[in-house]
Amino acid sequence: MTERIVQTIRTVPQMRGEIAARRAAGATVGFVPTMGALHAGHLALIERAASEHDVVVVSIFINPAQFDRADDLERYPRDEAADVKAAAAAGATICFTPNVTEIYPQDFASSVQVRGTLTETLEGQERGVGHFDGMATVVTILLNIVGADVAYFGAKDAQQALVVRRFVTDLQIPVEIVTAETVRDRDGLALSSRNARLSAGGREQALAISAALQAAANAISNGSADSPEAANAAGIERLRAAGIAPEYFAIADPSTLEPARQLSGTLLIACAATVDGVRLIDNLTVSANREAATANC
Ligand code: AMP
Repeated sequence: MTERIVQTIRTVPQMRGEIAARRAAGATVGFVPTMGALHAGHLALIERAASEHDVVVVSIFINPAQFDRADDLERYPRDEAADVKAAAAAGATICFTPNVTEIYPQDFASSVQVRGTLTETLEGQERGVGHFDGMATVVTILLNIVGADVAYFGAKDAQQALVVRRFVTDLQIPVEIVTAETVRDRDGLALSSRNARLSAGGREQALAISAALQAAANAISNGSADSPEAANAAGIERLRAAGIAPEYFAIADPSTLEPARQLSGTLLIACAATVDGVRLIDNLTVSANREAATANC
C-alpha cells in the first residue's frame, strides 16, 4: 500500500527535489491547487487525486495577484495547521505552503494572460480581467513547480477551469486537467471558503443563489421557458424574492461562455452575488435538448 504521510514543503527547490525523487521511484503525481480554508469541496478533489495517484500535492497559497479588493484578501480565512491536517486525512502526501516571496520574488516581472470571451465575461467583467491574469500566472507557476501528471479543479469555479484548460493547451503545459463536480451542503449551498464569513441570516439568504440556478434550470428542462431570456427571468425572480440583486445571472455556452442565443444543447447557468457582505459564485449545467424531446414524441 502507498504510504500517506503528509510532508509540508515551503520552498521551490525542496518541492522540485521531492517530486524528482518520487518520480525516480516510479510514482505518479496528482495536484490540487487551493487557497486554503479547506472544506469538503477541496477534500473531494484531494480524495479523487489520492485514488488516482501515488503522490498528491496540495498547494495552500492565497494568491494576492488574483484579488481585486484589498479587504477581500485581508479577510480571506487562514488556518494552515487545520488545512494540513484535513488535507492529510483526505490523502494528500505533500502540502506545498510557500510564502508570497517564494512565488513572487522581488524582481518578478511576468504574467500569463488569456484574452477573449473566456476571461472578459462574467467574473472578468465584474472583477476585471486582472483577476484571471493573476490566477493564470500563479497556476502556471505552480504547475511548473509541481510537474504533476494531473491537476484537479472544481466545477464550482467553472470559468476558472475553462481558463486553465485554455492556457494549458495554448502554452503546451504537459499536464491533464480534470474538472470535478461542485460539492454542496445538503440544502444546496455550494461549499466555499467564504461561507465561513456568512451570518446565520446571510447563509439562509444565500440559499436563494442555488435555488435561482435550479429555478432557471427547471424552466429550461420542463419547457416553461422558451428562450434564454425567459429562463434568466425565472432565476432573477427567485433572487429578487430573497432580496438579492445579482452582479450577473447568465445563461451561456459551457465551453465558450458566449451568451446562449437559444435553449439547446448543454447550457451553463452562472451567478455571482454579494450576500451579507460576502461575494459568492455558483453555477449549474443543464441539458436543453427540447428539439430532441419534441422529435421523439
Ligand atoms: P480555492 O481554494 O477557492 O481557490 O479553490 C481551490 C479549488 O477547489 C478550485 O479548483 C475550486 O474550484 C475548488 N472548489 C472550491 N469549492 C468547491 C466546491 N464546493 N466543490 C468542488 N470544488 C470546489
